[in-house]
Amino acid sequence: MPQYAEVMVDQPGARLDRTFTYSLPERLAGRVSVGAQVRVPLGKRRLAGYVVALTDDKPPFPLRDLEGLLVEEPLFGPGEVELARRIAKTYVCDLAAALRLFLPAGAARKPEQMVRLTPAGQEALEDSRRRLSPRARELLQALAQSGEMTAEQLAAQVGLKSLGGRLPNLEVQGLVKIDRRLRRPAASQQLRQWARLTVSAEQAEAEAEARAHRAPQQANTLRRLAAGEAPVSVLTRSAATALAKQGLVEIYERHLERRPEPADLNLAAEKHVLTPAQQAALDRTTRALEEQRYWGGLLHGVTGSGKTEVYLHAVEAALRQGRSAIVLTPEISLTPQVVERFTRRFGELVALLHSSLSLGERYDEWERVRRGEARVVVGARSALFAPARDLGIIIVDEEHEPSYKQDSTPRYHAVTVAQWRAEAAGAVLLLGSATPALERYHAAVNPEDSSLELLELPERIGNRPLPQVRTIDLRGQPALGEGTTFAEEMRVGLEEKLARGEQVMLFLNRRGFSTFVICRDCGDVLRCPNCAVSLTYHHGRKRMVCHHCDFARAVPDQCEKCEGYDIGFHGLGTERIADQVERQFPDTRVLRLDRDTARHHGSYGRILGQFARGEAQVLIGTQMIAKGHDFPEVTFVGVINADVGLHRPDFRAAERTFQLLTQVSGRAGRANKPGEVYVQTYNPDHPALQAAAEHDYARFYAKEIAHRRENQYPPFARLANLVFSHVKEPTALQAAIQAAQLLSKMAAEPGRNLQVLGEASCPLHKLRGRYRYQVLLKAECDEELGKIIGELDRSLELPAGVNMVVDVDPYDMM
Ligand code: ADP
Ligand code: ZN
Repeated sequence: MPQYAEVMVDQPGARLDRTFTYSLPERLAGRVSVGAQVRVPLGKRRLAGYVVALTDDKPPFPLRDLEGLLVEEPLFGPGEVELARRIAKTYVCDLAAALRLFLPAGAARKPEQMVRLTPAGQEALEDSRRRLSPRARELLQALAQSGEMTAEQLAAQVGLKSLGGRLPNLEVQGLVKIDRRLRRPAASQQLRQWARLTVSAEQAEAEAEARAHRAPQQANTLRRLAAGEAPVSVLTRSAATALAKQGLVEIYERHLERRPEPADLNLAAEKHVLTPAQQAALDRTTRALEEQRYWGGLLHGVTGSGKTEVYLHAVEAALRQGRSAIVLTPEISLTPQVVERFTRRFGELVALLHSSLSLGERYDEWERVRRGEARVVVGARSALFAPARDLGIIIVDEEHEPSYKQDSTPRYHAVTVAQWRAEAAGAVLLLGSATPALERYHAAVNPEDSSLELLELPERIGNRPLPQVRTIDLRGQPALGEGTTFAEEMRVGLEEKLARGEQVMLFLNRRGFSTFVICRDCGDVLRCPNCAVSLTYHHGRKRMVCHHCDFARAVPDQCEKCEGYDIGFHGLGTERIADQVERQFPDTRVLRLDRDTARHHGSYGRILGQFARGEAQVLIGTQMIAKGHDFPEVTFVGVINADVGLHRPDFRAAERTFQLLTQVSGRAGRANKPGEVYVQTYNPDHPALQAAAEHDYARFYAKEIAHRRENQYPPFARLANLVFSHVKEPTALQAAIQAAQLLSKMAAEPGRNLQVLGEASCPLHKLRGRYRYQVLLKAECDEELGKIIGELDRSLELPAGVNMVVDVDPYDMM
């Protein structure tokens, strides 16, 4: 039996990226396994931690004893530890941070002890000759009277702060039984603090004005609250508290909203007979399932080709083998249709894991998976880490979606980690998309790479044609947002469809009303004080808002620079499109779906439900409407400005544009009536636009992959972006220079295969009050990157207050 345990101390924030070894005392022999939550001494403190390995080899230094077992059943196994090590190494983070991915969120990681009386305890209590200390008798009596309770409740009942060693003592004598387990976050922990104004918005603005210099945080907070109440967690807490003391703001508690009602989406529940292409894809997948070892498939199917139906059958095949399945979809709340299809097919076997559930609800679902009651896990990115047993298949829907990249540490990519997890479990990985990520398609068509095999669904169900796409050249027309919203062709197209009573979707990947506000006299653009961006005017809120930090303020009557009165509103956002449709087509019912209208839980599903039921004829939205929705009555999709995002300083800009246009076009003509798509653009000759207009993935791929090869971008190289930020610009720059110099020196060493680009100012030069500089690393493989960043981390001494973010395989280069 192993005598030593390697323990990772769970201390968020503290950089304890190493583990510690303890010896196992006699009484714990045989009871501690990998994944157990334990208590260990560290210096003078006693901390909770997790066992990551057991061994018989005694290290050559004196050891302390592991103190106790906090939770009886292990929370993860050796396989998860291996995976966490790989995540930590590749994405350069602490093992602790990587392991936390496998644990239920936040408060649910706290252990508790449930105590109950054993029959021996009952006997002892009744036996008057049995010698018990008065305290012990009191404890047993309390348990006899009130039944099972937690150690804290028991202590409180006998008037003690803590029970100290008394409980283990009673346990050793066999008088009580202690069940050590995780605590389900209680209802009271689902309360959140919110803040609202106690004065009018006008008064708040005046108070903010008065604080602009003296207390800018308070001024920001007042302005933010003038736009509506907000959770304290999104505000500056100290400012909110100070304002509450001054009587301008009230802080109150509010329950986290519960699980949203499943949206009624008018779905047909029947199981379809598969088309030959679907059947072929399914057969290949089930064959792989039977072989019980890793196999990866990339299901490339045009929009409406029935990919989801293949997923459903593949999950069924895994369940028939007694195995379980994990199905990832981008930001689950964003695709209620997919969720509904899975819950209808598999009922109680489905566990939903996503961020709009409360901690308690999420914990319950996590437990159902761990106990093996739920065997189909459907969720966003983090559902990949669910404790599914006997994993048979991992499905990643819309695998090209950027939201599969986590944007905080550990910055893993869910598709990459899904592949590792499937490999480790001997499971099948099935990725699906109409517009596969270039890297994945490259792997699937490259004969030297056996990690993915290409499966194709080239046609829509029922041989429905893909929609006709017409490109509308905006060059030479009055500028968009300056008189033009819809070019003449677009307006006529819209009018026709609306007159025929058909449904229409309008796509613009920008929310708000006007995207910038400018003084026409001096040309000054109103900017966010915290970020290097212009403010977007939101008509509904009558405020200008920063889309990065949520700063909000009223529009001044007069320019703050030149005191001119000619304030102009420019640029188009979804709010303005809605306004224009209502003006130009007065009898039409319009719905808008963007981050503003979907702010409240459940409203996303409600808006989609209304549109699905035909309660509105026009749906206007950002990329939220581009995802896998299936609205049979939609015959027309209008893209207001295809160029948004096309010129971002990011090597994936063209790919992202192609994906969005293809996806949004794919919403048209999914049932019996053919679909049409009109695309307004200033770049009608851009290859990404042309390929999207012709639904020609192969052509786009050929062009783009050549470009990537030539410029040594992924998949032909691996990238890491290092961002250095500080409230003072010279300090941030200094840190980046220092890092770039060190890295260049390392890159020059023989045997290295590394390119250092920069330092350079980040495209978003200032964000939330911090100045930002970046250094980009290019290497041939992950190991090279991980190694060099590790070395940098050890030798770089950053000035105080500088924050360094390491992003391996970056998706957000801004
Ligand atoms: P995708 O996920 O590729 O966009 P879906 O799975 O949503 O496509 O399928 C599009 C539509 O076709 C859905 O309404 C679906 O119910 C239907 N469908 C899928 N497979 C079949 C089939 N074999 N026979 C008939 N209808 C099908
Ligand atoms: Zn800002």
